[in-house]
Amino acid sequence: MNYDRILVRYGEISTKGRNRKKFVSKMRQNIYHVLKDHSDIKIESTRDRMYIHLNDTPFDAVKDSLSNVFGIQSFSPVVRTDKEIESIKEAALSLVQKSFTEGMTFKVTARRSDKSFEYETNEINREVGAHVLRNMEALKVDVKNPDINLTVEVRAEGVYLSCEKYQGAAGLPIGTGGKAMLLLSGGLDSPVAGYYMLRRGVEIEAIHFYSPPYTSERAKQKVIDLAEVLTKFGTSIKLHIVPFTAIQEKVQAQVPENYTMTATRRMMLTIADKIREKQGGLALVTGESLGQVASQTLESMLAINEVTSTPVLRPLIAMDKLDIIDVAQSIHTHDISIQPYEDCCTIFTAPSPKTRPKLEKVKYYESFTDFDEMIQEAVDQTEMLVLPKEKSENDSFADLL
Ligand code: ATP
Ligand code: MG
Repeated sequence: MNYDRILVRYGEISTKGRNRKKFVSKMRQNIYHVLKDHSDIKIESTRDRMYIHLNDTPFDAVKDSLSNVFGIQSFSPVVRTDKEIESIKEAALSLVQKSFTEGMTFKVTARRSDKSFEYETNEINREVGAHVLRNMEALKVDVKNPDINLTVEVRAEGVYLSCEKYQGAAGLPIGTGGKAMLLLSGGLDSPVAGYYMLRRGVEIEAIHFYSPPYTSERAKQKVIDLAEVLTKFGTSIKLHIVPFTAIQEKVQAQVPENYTMTATRRMMLTIADKIREKQGGLALVTGESLGQVASQTLESMLAINEVTSTPVLRPLIAMDKLDIIDVAQSIHTHDISIQPYEDCCTIFTAPSPKTRPKLEKVKYYESFTDFDEMIQEAVDQTEMLVLPKEKSENDSFADLL
């Protein structure tokens, strides 16, 4: 007997009262997105759980993708039987036999939400357990810490059995928390910041500033690759690529060296906010972490943030670098981020940027140049990519070779 569907248990969604329908429907959409290569799966959603009907798709082929979808607390491959004790016993034995290897212990955990079922929970445990043990001599019981925990759940519509349970990604379904613009550099931090926002249900569009010829095509590709990794959490992502060379050169020429970083960051935030407005975003997101570098002191943030009253969210603000690296590794952005191609900010970095810039001073330095026009030009010349890139026919042909 093979698992024919996956039982998906909701996390925080179950606390959502009247809005629950919206959350469930987004999550269903996101699951279809990550499983789009398996056209035969069908999702049935109910008030308190979902069933993914596998049809011909093996569970192992979708397990990893499913574990990336936010809003899922846990999931189990299950088989469903009718509400006859003999059918339950037969399915139970078949599943335990499949999971068993030499020396393993087991127990049965029954739940009965359909109280009209003729056996009580303890009776189900006993009946099913005894049947399995009778047919598998090498199997021993361990009720505290079993290798195989066979769950049997009796519901109105049928009985669900499973020997496996996997942790979901938790959080909230992407798209239930509005949209924000992620300032995405090629570094370690901003992709992790994006991940945390996605996990709280926020849809993101990414914005990247690049400065050719100071920064290479490879540096740009690195950012495209990072944004593409973030799409595996169940959504497509728009990436806005802003040509930033002219502004950086102007700042370099006009602003005293120890204030170029502050001025540059103010320009970035201003441009990002204009793109946000155009795209209907509700907030800006950065990968800043307090005290990490000169631009990330409270004094710097005060001077930089002054250009906008839009919320600037900084999910990593209180995290240590080592913890950020751990997350980057677990979401598979780390190895892309540590590729050596230079970012536009690194190239123009002054030897000793102000760690405590004064707002009046940076405004004074900026006042000698009319940046507004250049800012508008950068916004107008911004190019947009939608990720993941659809494979073209040529790509798929190349895959076959
Ligand atoms: P990261 O690892 O994300 O690059 P960082 O520690 O290198 O961060 P900074 O370079 O000071 O720190 O950047 C702080 C934040 O500013 C980044 O997390 C990102 O959100 C934004 N940022 C920096 N450079 C760029 C860029 N070229 N394009 C878009 N956003 C950027
Ligand atoms: Mg950086």
